[in-house]
Amino acid sequence: MTRPLRRILALTGGVGGAKLALGLANVLQPGQVTFLVNTGDDFDHLGLRICPDIDTLLYTLSDEANPETGWGRRNETWHCLEALDQLGGETWFRLGDRDLATHLTRTLALARGESLTAVTASLASHLGIPHPVLPMTDQPVATMIGTAQGELAFQQYFVRDRCAPAVTGFRFAGSEQAGINPQIEALLAAPDLDGIVICPSNPFVSVDPILTLPGMRAALAAASAPVVAVSPIIQGAAVKGPTAKMMAELGVPQDALAVARHYGDLLDGFILDSHDASLVEAVQSLGMDAIATPTLMLTLQDKMNLALATLDFISHIVTSNAP
Ligand code: GDP
Repeated sequence: MTRPLRRILALTGGVGGAKLALGLANVLQPGQVTFLVNTGDDFDHLGLRICPDIDTLLYTLSDEANPETGWGRRNETWHCLEALDQLGGETWFRLGDRDLATHLTRTLALARGESLTAVTASLASHLGIPHPVLPMTDQPVATMIGTAQGELAFQQYFVRDRCAPAVTGFRFAGSEQAGINPQIEALLAAPDLDGIVICPSNPFVSVDPILTLPGMRAALAAASAPVVAVSPIIQGAAVKGPTAKMMAELGVPQDALAVARHYGDLLDGFILDSHDASLVEAVQSLGMDAIATPTLMLTLQDKMNLALATLDFISHIVTSNAP
């Protein structure tokens, strides 16, 4: 007999993570799922504070995400960027007119002394999102990409240089001084937290900035809820973005097993794509539970199906661990 799950915490980066987040948001009641978002991609640009992963999640959960670009807001116009170009301004990071409203609102609130957590909650509420969306920390953390030519700030690597430089490693500047978001700490200690999901995000630059925060791995391990990750790698390839390219450059095998190994003993369970079912036993031999199920999320139904499969898997682990 499995009992219904009470509360779920989902760790996520931007595009890949937000797909499963949307599935979870659609199959769980408000209050049942909390999203913990990477802020290592955050940066200051044109005097504005920009939080790409938070915004991708907010736009995805409020049906505001732009289906054509895969980032930013739908029904976007670019008048400000065009005028900026005319004036000789920096235009390599594309900010649409509607998207700018988010960055203006956030930047002004932060300047008034509000925390990123408070600003994000207000943005989520105005966008009609009923689920808590929490930045991993209120302090600035900046993901730095090591390359043979030296270190690059994340957005220089990701957007300006289009992920072309070969990576040699990562550094999360400011992480040592950053504190875990207190609301996350409280949730991790809550007796009704039944599951922790690591969404299919880039392990190196979307999830590791979260896991590297002082005390985060220990708090996740100490939580009574099982930790389950969904593979962002299917048949040795990333669905989008540089995850597999980074694995190759770091000398890690380009497969889902390497992702499970990367998270290691943090995980109680790992979800592989059905095409990688042959890896189930190898993942299990790492000392965690494993299943294979369709994980490619093209439609809303795909996202909801994977969310339900993830929750079933958590229920199974909770039940088999019960005394
Ligand atoms: P970013 O911060 O915008 O780069 O987004 P994330 O780090 O959250 O997501 C990037 C990862 O999502 C990549 O490794 C992709 O392979 C993975 N991803 C994207 N779409 C899917 C999908 O439909 N299924 C799975 N399993 N992974 C996906």
